[in-house]
Amino acid sequence: MKYDIAVLAGDYIGPEVMKAALEVLAKLSDEKDSFGFHEALVGGSAIDATGKALPAETLKTAEGAHAILFGSVGGPKWEHLPPAEQPERASLLPLRKHFSLYANLRPAIIYKELKEASPLRADIVGDGLDILILRELTGDVYFGEPKLRRGEGANEEALDTMIYKRYEIERIAHLAFQSARLRRKIVHSIDKANVLTSMVFWREVVTQVAKEYPDVTLHHQYVDNAAMQLIRWPSQFDVVLCPNMFGDILSDEASQITGSIGMLASASLGEQNKWGRDGLQFGLYEPAGGTAPDIAGKGIANPIAQILSAALLLRYSLKLEDKAVRIENAVKSAIAAGARTRDLTADSAKAISTAEMTQEIVKRL
Ligand code: ATP
Ligand code: MG
Repeated sequence: MKYDIAVLAGDYIGPEVMKAALEVLAKLSDEKDSFGFHEALVGGSAIDATGKALPAETLKTAEGAHAILFGSVGGPKWEHLPPAEQPERASLLPLRKHFSLYANLRPAIIYKELKEASPLRADIVGDGLDILILRELTGDVYFGEPKLRRGEGANEEALDTMIYKRYEIERIAHLAFQSARLRRKIVHSIDKANVLTSMVFWREVVTQVAKEYPDVTLHHQYVDNAAMQLIRWPSQFDVVLCPNMFGDILSDEASQITGSIGMLASASLGEQNKWGRDGLQFGLYEPAGGTAPDIAGKGIANPIAQILSAALLLRYSLKLEDKAVRIENAVKSAIAAGARTRDLTADSAKAISTAEMTQEIVKRL
């Protein structure tokens, strides 16, 4: 089958690392599965060219694709713009909304060869870590009608309402259990059911969904305990299923225990039937890090986060699990052989360029 991928590289190192990811995908293109790349402008570079961070043409390109491979947007060049016109707010957020992306997946991986980059003790990291944080994006306290009661002096108050609908919990729970089936078959569902009614409901619905996945082990954990356990005993985790706000916090915590932002990918998945073509799952895939303006144009950015984002695209959107695993194994093997971009080594004389790292990975596919 021919798959259409919208390629939105963005700004600063965005295009540099995107080039690497496309090279990897092109190498995996064969008679059975081939990839069509549809490049479009986004972010600051789109503002410069068209006046808009998300031009109509870019949106059209994305709508026609099976998935979006996104780079990064923003940087000092556009910082003078008003907040609503900032590249990220004016492109990435509207894209998330337009495609109703309801789930954010952030793998936090520590390769055993890169253990020293982690702030965790070596005995805690052990043989490396591979945790998948799954964050719900449409419910929770961010969207419940916020209210402000003014003019009552000392009784003035502000409130946010935590709301979850059954279907919102069900669809993300299914995704958690299905993801776990491709991994170590463990799901930790995070909540605060000891004090919040919406979280009692979360726990109830997740438990019901779990009945359809008897081969996957489900644990429930309070968020405060989970924050602690991620540092004390991270290897207990496989898939961590989080409501929106707790996922926001835990995914940043998990990314920091890996110690290397240039290695971390992310995926945002949309509702299966709304934008998915050919029965596939629409999604947007991007590195966890930003545009790294400080190193842009030097050819030294680490392309691995973007390359692993492409692997997630193959896994979750195109259902090409074998090819996703080939990419991940090639990355592991390049790291094991000692390939290091500048962000991964204290010895800058040994550091290789973006292009060299890409070749190290491509030749191991
Ligand atoms: P934001 O998350 O708001 O974009 P930011 O712009 O400060 O924040 P990054 O662009 O991710 O965040 O940059 C943070 C630091 O990480 C910088 O020093 C940058 O050079 C480094 N960094 C980010 N991505 C990479 C990468 N792919 N390779 C090497 N270094 C990177
Ligand atoms: Mg940035």
